[in-house]
Parts: sequence; C-alpha cells; structure tokens
Amino acid sequence: MIHTPIQKLEFPNDRNVRLYCKREDLLPFSLGGNKVRIGRAFFRDMQEKNKDCMIIYGNSRSNLCRVLANLCCAEKIPCYMICSSEENEEQPIETNNSRLMKWLGAEVIPCRKTEIAQTVEQTMNRLTEEGYHPYYIFGDKFGTGNEGTPVQAYVDGYREILAWEKEQNISFSHIFAASGTGSTQCGLVSGKLLEQGTEQIIGLSISSREYDRAIRIMESGISDYFAKNHLVLPEGWESELHLEMGYRQGGYGQYDERILQVIREEFCRNGLPLDPTYTGKAFWGMKQYIEEHQLQDCDVLFIHTGGTPLFYDCILNDTDGGKK
Ligand SMILES: *Cc1c(COP(=O)(O)O)cnc(C)c1O
Repeated sequence: MIHTPIQKLEFPNDRNVRLYCKREDLLPFSLGGNKVRIGRAFFRDMQEKNKDCMIIYGNSRSNLCRVLANLCCAEKIPCYMICSSEENEEQPIETNNSRLMKWLGAEVIPCRKTEIAQTVEQTMNRLTEEGYHPYYIFGDKFGTGNEGTPVQAYVDGYREILAWEKEQNISFSHIFAASGTGSTQCGLVSGKLLEQGTEQIIGLSISSREYDRAIRIMESGISDYFAKNHLVLPEGWESELHLEMGYRQGGYGQYDERILQVIREEFCRNGLPLDPTYTGKAFWGMKQYIEEHQLQDCDVLFIHTGGTPLFYDCILNDTDGGKK
C-alpha cells in the first residue's frame, strides 16, 4: 500500500493548535478512503478461506460496499449486497455509491434493519444451494466473529503516521478520526499499543450505535486481532479507547447547518472535500472538541477517511449553496 500524504491545513485559532490531515481519501483505488485498506483486508481473508463469492452488508451510503464490489468486479468474484434502509426511509435512497453499485454489477438485496440476520442466512443458504462457497464479511449472521480481520489495515496506517512523525520531527498529541464500525480506530489503537505510541487516539462517533455496544465491539476487535497474531495485550489497554458520542447530531446520516458550514469552509480554505455523514461530521466534532478541551500548543492529526462520492452527493443536495 502506498503511503498517503499528510498535509498541514490552514487552521486559524488563538491557541497555537497546528492541524494536519492524512489524506486517506487519496488512496488510488475506487475513489479512495479507509475502506480501500479495510476492503482489501476482507478480500484477502475471503481468498485465504477459499470462498468464491462475497456477501456484504451496508446501506446506500456505504463506502465499504462500493470498494468491495469494485474489488469483486475486478477479480470476477460474484458480489451480493444486503442493503438496509434507515428507520426514517421508506426504501434505500439513491446516492452516488448506490449508483456505482449498479455499474459494478453487485446484486442488491434490500432489507429492513430488523431483518438483517435472517436475510444474511437466507442469502448464504441460497448461494450454498447454487454450489457456491459464500463468504460473509462480518462473520456469522449476527455480524460477529470476524472483528479482527480489518484491524491490520490501520495497524499499517498507524505505522505510516509514526514514520512520518519521526521523519518530520513532529509528534502528534491527538489523532482524530470518524468512528463507525470502529475498524479504523481498532487498527490505530492496536498500532499504538504495539509501537508504544504517545498520541491520544480519539474516535468521533458518527453512527447510531450506543456507547457500550460500540466499545464492546472495539474491545473484541482488538483482542481478536492480538490473539490471532499471537501478540500480548499490555495491562490496561482498554483505557486507550476514547470514543466521543457528543457530536452525532441525532445519529447516523443526520446533520444540520453547522456541519454544512464546516464542509463549505474547509473546501474554500483548504480545498478539502468533506461529507455530512462521515468526515464533515467528524471534522466539526474535532473542532468542537479542540474548543471544549482548550487544546493548545500542539500538533493534531485529522484522518480524512474518504467518502468522495458523498462529497458530490452533498454538493448536489446543497441547492442554496449556503446563501439563505
Ligand atoms: C466507514 C467510514 C468511516 C468509519 O470507519 P470505521 O472503520 O467503520 O469506524 C469513516 N469515514 C468514512 C468516509 C467511511 O466510509
């Protein structure tokens, strides 16, 4: 995997906080993003388990589904997407990602959020009857058992950051990233534990998952990864999991004008494409956090986790361009 650039951003503030951004959105496959690294980890796992078709789960905004469908399409592996809609949606909405899924030829199986396990099971059974050996990325039908697999992606990502810090003689006090499934955060934290890093890694929740459940899932991801790789977790490692729940604005995909303003501002100021579901929400949350915790005289890293198609969804829907 190539190293993505880390760039200094224009970040006007009174307390000498210097802000940097790791551009994971520039990874050179399928419009980039953290899901390129994570998707490749799942794809490799499928191959190692000798499976010959892929079942993925997500909603119409899912970047992971786009990247996995793209990998499958390129490698001629049949790909099935179980697609849920949010409670407030009648059916899955159309987005740039859902349109790309059609190009990529993935079969989309719509499903209610309450019927995921059942739909996964039915799809696994159907494909098995057809003679396939299906692989479901999240493990069993309840979505557990494969938490360790994507962790390596951001152990590698963390090591890239560490190498950059050494080379530039800069040491980050904080690393911020949007946290959804928690895979990215698990990888960063595992990397920090393995390399004895000093940064505070802060996940900004963008999902509807409750705190306890989100933490439990990350704990099993990290312990699963360490166990699989015959590594020993240091005493008290759980205290490295920092997840901020206060900037979710009502849950997954929900946002208000404050987030849209940050998105327009960052594009104008730094040429940075952000979106309201993931990176824009996280960037806004990070700015709030920096104010609320009065961070000062420090170097802070924001990980741009990608989602370029959602940036274009955002422009398309922002019909008044901020001029109300
Ligand atoms: C999936 C995703 C996230 C969240 O990453 P997790 O590893 O699921 O926590 C953040 N940003 C973007 C753009 C994503 O697609």
